[in-house]
Amino acid sequence: MPELPEVETIVRDLAGSVPGRGIQEVEVFHADLIEGETPAEFARALQGRRVGAVTRRAKNIVFDLGRGDRLLVNLGMTGRLLVPGRGDPAPTHLGVRMRLTRGRELLYADTRRFGRLWRVDEAGWRDFDGRLGVEPLSDRFTVEHLYEMTRKSRVAVKTWLMDQARVVGVGNIYASEALFRARVDPRRPASEVAREEVERIREAVREVLQEAIDFRGTTFLDYRDASGNRGEFYDRLRVYDRDGQPCTRCNRPLLRVVQANRSTFFCEECQR
Ligand SMILES: [Zn+2]
Repeated sequence: MPELPEVETIVRDLAGSVPGRGIQEVEVFHADLIEGETPAEFARALQGRRVGAVTRRAKNIVFDLGRGDRLLVNLGMTGRLLVPGRGDPAPTHLGVRMRLTRGRELLYADTRRFGRLWRVDEAGWRDFDGRLGVEPLSDRFTVEHLYEMTRKSRVAVKTWLMDQARVVGVGNIYASEALFRARVDPRRPASEVAREEVERIREAVREVLQEAIDFRGTTFLDYRDASGNRGEFYDRLRVYDRDGQPCTRCNRPLLRVVQANRSTFFCEECQR
């Protein structure tokens, strides 16, 4: 599932090729990908609009359409948003095709179709934005803020970090990685994590997300950037998907446990 670094990589790719282009034609091949209106309404509303900035909020890609309107895309498990170069083969499982001005196409493909595309007006956007937690790479993600918020919750700190209403963009991979770097046991209740540990978690979250962006994200199977290339961060993972392998710090075998139906990877020796 794409997390913050993967979505950020796609956004940066799209920001170089999409803004300023008009949407000439929209074709929807799978109606279930469009939320809140019929594919025909969706297509009619987008055709003729001009795309402004492309940005990210949490794990969502946000296309500014002007007049407060926005097109939002969530990639779900296996979604891909692509601007193919000339001569690139068409992706499989194509869900939506947008023909843009000056000879480009913006394609949405999705094997399992848990992703979605939807439009919001200014009020819809403010409502959506307001329900999401703090961006971990923003200045608002302070030690004070994180410490305050964690005091109120007995939820395991790893599960806590993945709650999008608290902190956005951190999913299963980067929560495990950040807690390893911070040397904090993922099973501990959030409210019992000490202030200096909260400081380490904040640093580790920002560090691992930034490094993963630098390596254009983590690809297991499905994730691709907007040109169809794999992310390179997989080889840099220290605990995720590495249970049974030696810890990079102490050499003991890494463990896997299940928390809130998700796998957590950690070192029992290094993380206390
Ligand atoms: Zn270890």
